[in-house]
Amino acid sequence: MLLFAATKSRSVFWHFTVGLRITWYVLAALSVLVFLYGVARPVVKYRRGHGGPWPPCPWRELPGRLAGGLGLLLSHATIGRRDKLAGWAHRGIFYGFIVLFAGTVVLGFDTDFTKPVFGWDYFHGNFYLAYKEVLNLLGTALVAGLLVMMVRRALIRPAKLDYTRPDRAAGERQFDRHVYEVGDWVFVVTLLVIALTGFVLEGVRIAMDNPGYSGTQFGGWVVAQALGGLNYATLAGLRHGLWWFHGLLAITFVACIPYTKATHMLTSFVSLSLRDPLAGKRLAPIPPERADLPAGYGALVDFSPLHLLELDACTKCGKCHEACPANATGRPLSPRDVILELREQANHAAAGLGIGGVLGGLLHGSTGGDGFTESVVGEDGVRVDTVWSCMQCNACVEICPVGIEQAPIINQLRRRLVEEGELDSNLQSVLQVIHKSGNSFGENKRKRGRWTQGLEFEVKDARKEPVDVLWFVGDYASFDPRSQQVSRALAELLHEAQVDFGILYDDERNSGNDVRRVGEEGLFESLAEHNIATISGCQFERIITSDPHSLNTLRHEYPDLGGSWPVMHHTTLLLELIEAGRLDVRGRLSYRVTYHDPCHLGRYNGEYDAPRRILEMLGCTLVEMPRNRDNSFCCGAGGGRIWIPDQPGQERPSENRIREAMSLPDVELFVVSCPKDVTMYEDAIKTSGNAQRIQLRELTELVAEALVPRAAALAV
Ligand code: SF4
Ligand code: SF4
Repeated sequence: MLLFAATKSRSVFWHFTVGLRITWYVLAALSVLVFLYGVARPVVKYRRGHGGPWPPCPWRELPGRLAGGLGLLLSHATIGRRDKLAGWAHRGIFYGFIVLFAGTVVLGFDTDFTKPVFGWDYFHGNFYLAYKEVLNLLGTALVAGLLVMMVRRALIRPAKLDYTRPDRAAGERQFDRHVYEVGDWVFVVTLLVIALTGFVLEGVRIAMDNPGYSGTQFGGWVVAQALGGLNYATLAGLRHGLWWFHGLLAITFVACIPYTKATHMLTSFVSLSLRDPLAGKRLAPIPPERADLPAGYGALVDFSPLHLLELDACTKCGKCHEACPANATGRPLSPRDVILELREQANHAAAGLGIGGVLGGLLHGSTGGDGFTESVVGEDGVRVDTVWSCMQCNACVEICPVGIEQAPIINQLRRRLVEEGELDSNLQSVLQVIHKSGNSFGENKRKRGRWTQGLEFEVKDARKEPVDVLWFVGDYASFDPRSQQVSRALAELLHEAQVDFGILYDDERNSGNDVRRVGEEGLFESLAEHNIATISGCQFERIITSDPHSLNTLRHEYPDLGGSWPVMHHTTLLLELIEAGRLDVRGRLSYRVTYHDPCHLGRYNGEYDAPRRILEMLGCTLVEMPRNRDNSFCCGAGGGRIWIPDQPGQERPSENRIREAMSLPDVELFVVSCPKDVTMYEDAIKTSGNAQRIQLRELTELVAEALVPRAAALAV
């Protein structure tokens, strides 16, 4: 009824002189120019990065990637994870801003194009009223979203929004990053003022024109009632003043987008679309054209263009800061601060380009800017300790809502440090040991298969005869005495289930997963090439491994070097055997347990369910720790940290995790499914003084404990 009854429209330039109109268009054009320069400068900045291709994927993949990025952006699936309130508030802001912006464009198109050129004015009647309904609704969503964000910052104050740097001491430059807090407030307050002045302007117009309809224009309508007592001249003055205030603020905001926090509106879509879908799980090889250059990232010029762009996409949401185990246990590392530090350096370098440098960079490619060749690691940049504190657990990459690849960037910084010899002496020794012996224990390679001694059957040599299942055992499961027990238990289970399996004996080498995450790319390649050549000479159907680190590199990284096979974790195979009735274990245990998701099995490879399903079938009661599945907490061994001594007196991530398990009621067992976890947590249970209260079990050991051997079953 309302729509059919209405015939109203509104004048954009109400009582404007020609001079005022020209002034407006000149200012709007200036705003667009400033905006475009602000977009051009980072483009030139990204082109200064020579460490990778642009685009970072084949052209034919681009449409699919962009569609995927758009889907993530529109759904807000990444923004709402682990923070629903922020997700809904951001939805309101995002959709409110987009629709108000689009509404302004629609209006401008009518005013500046269709009406003057074709005499066609669509901005009236039903279209106008529907337009207003939509804009009022989304404008309200924008205001609500902004208010929620302000309440979060001012009253709720989540720790992740505290910008204090863990890698700087109080009093050092940029310690508390107070300037970022100011920037955040300016951003939300400016948007709020733009939205509110839009409503007030609408109210003044309604009070003056009395159009006779309200619809959902409650914002403007309420203002109109409040202003109803003012005389026409006062309202007219208010209307002019508000129009200019609102308009100038809006075009200033647009001009500032590329220079402020708002720049993530432009960059986050690109980074979400173009980041490696296997970021962190598959590290980039050294490009052949850079083989003669120092490895990794030493200066901004070494970065890939995508990684330089990602620095600008960070919204400072703090999700990675909150998820980082290094930060949580007092190490001098926050992935957020690494990204922001590098961004500051990149912006400083780009500022050195000047207007001439930007134009030259656009026209002739990337030149100039000394800052791009200065070292990014050092006392005034990303500190060496910060780089080596990382466990490469990928928690930051997994949670970042805008697709930033923090762990791979840190890995690139490590590559350069390794090349320059800036690494812990213990780590250096272990790398030399691996280089010499092919394993991190420094054992003679002939001893690799010795763990099989004591089994009542012979484990096949997969190099000499065909097998169904090739078992890549890994260093810890081969040489560590505690994990050797688990390996024997697994071998017995496979034998019991009549699985035809074999191992590589002295031809297996360290898989290289952690060597690569340390940053020793050359050693990784030689280890991987040896393993690939050995495995390629075997006949088998699939590979299993009990080591999630080996699982990851065999599954995601060996294919780039020519080794591509189906690879599965031993828990997946055990579940398959139990479900097929080949291992009779059902419901025989009654422990109350908690389960730790290894980073390389869960986050890296998405395997969360098989271990839980096995525990359920065994009859155990699983009590989840607060940080579970994709939010699991690193044991502290990853990224080569197992080979770097911790600072005395500092809580280790494994101890922090045991503390979390001990907070659960009446849990008897801490269950793991990774040989490194066996080592880390057996130790942490003792050093945290909990040896009498909780015990560690590898999942295989529980399956073995519950097993009714076929012979016993037949006897019954
Ligand atoms: S990979 Fe893990 S330890 Fe390293 S920065 Fe990211 S969250 Fe922190
Ligand atoms: S890097 Fe990503 S997760 Fe971390 S603060 Fe920035 S946007 Fe948030």
